[in-house]
Amino acid sequence: MTYQEALKKAEEYLVSRGIDNAPVDAWYLMEYSCKCDRSWFLMNREKEMPGPLYARYQSMLSDRARHIPLQHLTGEQEFMGIPFMVNENVLIPRQDTEILVEEALKVIKPGSHVLDMCTGSGCIIISLMKYKQDILGTAVDISNAALDVAKENAARQGVCIDFIQGNLFQNIDGKYDAIVSNPPYIPTDEISKLMEEVRCHEPAGALDGREDGLYFYRQIITKSCGFLKAGGWLLFEIGYDQGLSVSEMMKSAGFSDVRVIKDLAGLDRVVKGKLP
Ligand code: GLN
Repeated sequence: MTYQEALKKAEEYLVSRGIDNAPVDAWYLMEYSCKCDRSWFLMNREKEMPGPLYARYQSMLSDRARHIPLQHLTGEQEFMGIPFMVNENVLIPRQDTEILVEEALKVIKPGSHVLDMCTGSGCIIISLMKYKQDILGTAVDISNAALDVAKENAARQGVCIDFIQGNLFQNIDGKYDAIVSNPPYIPTDEISKLMEEVRCHEPAGALDGREDGLYFYRQIITKSCGFLKAGGWLLFEIGYDQGLSVSEMMKSAGFSDVRVIKDLAGLDRVVKGKLP
């Protein structure tokens, strides 16, 4: 079978198994299993695919057909132009979260000490430290398995972060110039409606925002006042329908300059506010 035939067959197979964006995933798995890029493929597509490569490609395709996320097969997801190692212990970084990083970059000044609450893969704090020189980073997660991934990502990017295991602010002291967080925010009842890739393969603890999805915002907003310097910023990623609730909570807690920022799809995605 030629490379081209194998790719076409793979696309049809993933479509038949109900995989979203089947042609894209068939291509990425071809690229990954054959370690080739688009231009190599275009030059060599009529050639026979060697048996071991074909077998490797088929095995990855059958895992993908079982709705294992593409990123768990390749072990990686790009975020803010940086490759992040991922596994089943962390949320796969989402493009939407880049909005949070971009907003944080606007308000964080050189020399700031930034706290990333619920760091997961570490994608937020690591990107901030790569794009803004001279900031200090601290990152918290309740899961040691997630922290292992974040530590590996920080090491790969050559950034030095203070990683702390704990339940929210449990093991934190001191005051920060900014707190950033993409906490779990899906209401418990909604989790069963998510796609299989997310529902069955991403950590429930990174998704579940309890009854109304707002549990972690309530906790973090109330407690953050004690961990922010005067003039410090609190920035959250939120679900598309949480802008009003979260911004009201921040105003009631005494934050000023509270603003909701939309994502590229025009949906509410980030809330930020400043401690007077
Ligand atoms: N902060 C991480 C991310 O944005 C993890 C978020 C989470 O686990 N809810 O990807």
